[in-house]
This record gives sequence, C-alpha cells and structure tokens, in this order.
Amino acid sequence: MPALLPGVATLGVLGGGQLGRMFVHAAQALGYRCIVLDPDAISPAGAVAEKHIKADYLDHFGLAQLARDCDGITTEFENVPALALETLAGMRTVAPSGAAVAVCQDRAVEKAHFEAAGVPCAPHAVITNEIELAAVDPGLLPGILKTSRMGYDGKGQMRVSTIAELALAWAHLKRVPCVLEQLLPLKFELSVLVARGADGQIVNFPVQQNLHRDGILAVTEVPAPDVPAEVEKLAIAAARQVAEALDYVGVLCVEFFWLEDGRLVVNEMAPRPHNSGHWTMNGCDVSQFELQVRALAGLPLPEPRQHSASIMLNLLGDLWFKADGGPTPPAWDRVLALPGTHLHLYGKTDARHGRKMGHLNVTAETPAAAHAVALQAAALLGLPTDF
Ligand code: ATP
Ligand code: MG
Repeated sequence: MPALLPGVATLGVLGGGQLGRMFVHAAQALGYRCIVLDPDAISPAGAVAEKHIKADYLDHFGLAQLARDCDGITTEFENVPALALETLAGMRTVAPSGAAVAVCQDRAVEKAHFEAAGVPCAPHAVITNEIELAAVDPGLLPGILKTSRMGYDGKGQMRVSTIAELALAWAHLKRVPCVLEQLLPLKFELSVLVARGADGQIVNFPVQQNLHRDGILAVTEVPAPDVPAEVEKLAIAAARQVAEALDYVGVLCVEFFWLEDGRLVVNEMAPRPHNSGHWTMNGCDVSQFELQVRALAGLPLPEPRQHSASIMLNLLGDLWFKADGGPTPPAWDRVLALPGTHLHLYGKTDARHGRKMGHLNVTAETPAAAHAVALQAAALLGLPTDF
C-alpha cells in the first residue's frame, strides 16, 4: 500500500471525544485534512476537524460519506461497532482492524487473547449464565465483577467478597455477560504504548507508571519511579507480543498490574492512544497521536525519544467545583506560572464530576524536578498530593 501523504490525503476518525481531538490536532499539524464522524452535534474533535459528519456509527449514509471523503480511517474509542470498521475497510485504509477492536471490546475475548499470546492476566471466570455463576471457584474471591463489554473508568464494576454478594452483583449488573476477576494485591500499575505499522514495524514508548483514584487514571509518571529495569523489560516485551499476536496496526496501549509478590500481569488493552500516554505530547519527540497518524497513513514509525522527565495530572470536572457553588475554572494562570507546565483542555464546556476535562503535563530535566513542580501544581489545583 502506498503511504497516504501529508498535504494530500484526508484522514477520518470515528468518535468525537478528546482522543479524536488530539488525533485531529496531530494530523492537521502534519498537513492532513480531517473528518470526524460522531452522532453528537457538539464534540471536542468535531469542533476542530475540517468536517464533522453527524451520524450514528452504523449509519449507512454517514459511513459512505466518510469513506468517500477520506483516504484512511481510524477510531478514537473501542466501543465503536467493529462492524463500522469492517464496512469501511472494504472501501478504504482502516487501522486498527475491526477484528482487533472486537477483541478489545470484550473482556472475556481479550483475556483469551492474552493467554493465547502467552501473557498472564488475572485469574478469572467468565459468567454468562446461571450454570457458570454456580460453578465459580470461591478461590477467585474477593474479586471484582466487571461487565464484559462497555466498561470504562471503573464503570460497570462491582467488588464482591462472597458467593452471595457475587450473585447479587451480577443481578445488579442486569445479568449481562461478565468476568469475575480475582482482586489482586497491586504494588503499582503500569502501561506500555506500542505503535505498529502495516509492514510489521513496531516501536514502543517507555513504561508509564499510573496512579488511579476511584477507578480513574489520576497521575502518570515517566520514567516510572518505582519500576525496576527487569520489570520494564518484561512489560515492553509483553506489550509488543500482544500487538504482534493481533497483527495489530495502529497505537495500542497495554495496561499491567505489578503485584506485591513480584509478578507482572496484564490488565486490559485499548486499541488507540491512551490517557496514560498524554505526557508524550510534551515529554517525547513524537507523541502517541502522531504515531497513530503515521501508522494509519503508512508512514515510517520513529522510535520515540523521551527528552524530558514527565508527569501527567488528569483534570476532572471536579476541579471546577472547589468552593461553594461553581462551576468556576481553576486558576490556570497560577498553574502555568510553574516551570515546565503544559495545559491541554479538551474544549468541553460543561464541567461535571468525574468528566475528563483536560490534562496538565509537567516536564523537567530530572524526575525529581518534575515531581516537585507536579506536587506544586496539584496543591494549587486542590488535587491530592499522594504521588
Ligand atoms: P479504563 O478502561 O478507564 O482503564 P476500566 O473501567 O476498563 O478502566 P479496569 O482497568 O478494569 O477498568 O479497572 C480500573 C482500575 O481498578 C484498575 O486500574 C485498578 O486500579 C483496579 N482494578 C481492576 N481490576 C483489578 C484487580 N483484578 N485487582 C485489583 N485491582 C483491580
Ligand atoms: Mg483500565
């Protein structure tokens, strides 16, 4: 396949959220025109693309229009129907494939893929009916019951300690197909982003150490402050293996748990750039979004070079509701007075609790310097300083 050249080709993205917006920014910087397909009239990506097709993901007319006007098409989230990608693939360059996205859409299928790729994941049981529920090994408790599909930011998850609680939780989740995972003693959470081209070329970003609060990513630090070199090597090798076993094209994020007993297990993967990779926009000579563009367009994939120690703070809508009343925007002028701070807001007008409004990247020459500034920024914002 010849490359889709900057300044000539038009790139499309399914989904209009912040990841789509940052894809569009990266593509436009390279000289591509961009088209976003999203059912919402107002969307972060639709607001910056050259064109916004307002249509459902399976709308024939919308997909036909996207295929007519775009040379290459990607997705910004994994819950876009795989069928939409498959339909488009008959007409245009599409990456990642509908088949790869379908694996990431379903926790049970995803876990089977990890096991087939030889990468260990959490001990688990698939629960789709009463018989499977009755057959659950009590050794998996305490555990977390997760819906197989459509979960994000810890939604669709319930912690359970007993078989009775498990039955209640499954009923609460409306008896949709679920996966029960053993609750693992986590030492730290890590993630690795890889980018892979259609020709099989594969590159990776350095290991990212992630802190979650209430099931939502809060802080990412790179270099990972607590991760020994041998664990980093294992995580990178596992992430590459997962991508190759999927014959994956595009940017893939693989999330890991590093356990108290020293084992590394894979948690889940996302077939797209990831919140934990947002630091690459300022801390690396190539961002995860530029690699997403390059992989889609069939351009060479440079090995990313981290030039600055980096910390990313996620900015949730809660920050807008500090004092009484609200919403009021945080004191960005004071935050941006700190050295090496880079603010990215997603253009969302209404702040809501738990809603991802933006992120703040802090870069510095040394991890200690980045850490000191990130703590100051967190304190100014009223965020916890527990990292
Ligand atoms: P997202 O897609 O936004 O990353 P999600 O809703 O798919 O999140 P998970 O990644 O499955 O959710 O879980 C969210 C967080 O809950 C994890 O990052 C981890 O902190 C915790 N968690 C999940 N599974 C386990 C487990 N088996 N043992 C211990 N902690 C867990
Ligand atoms: Mg996760």
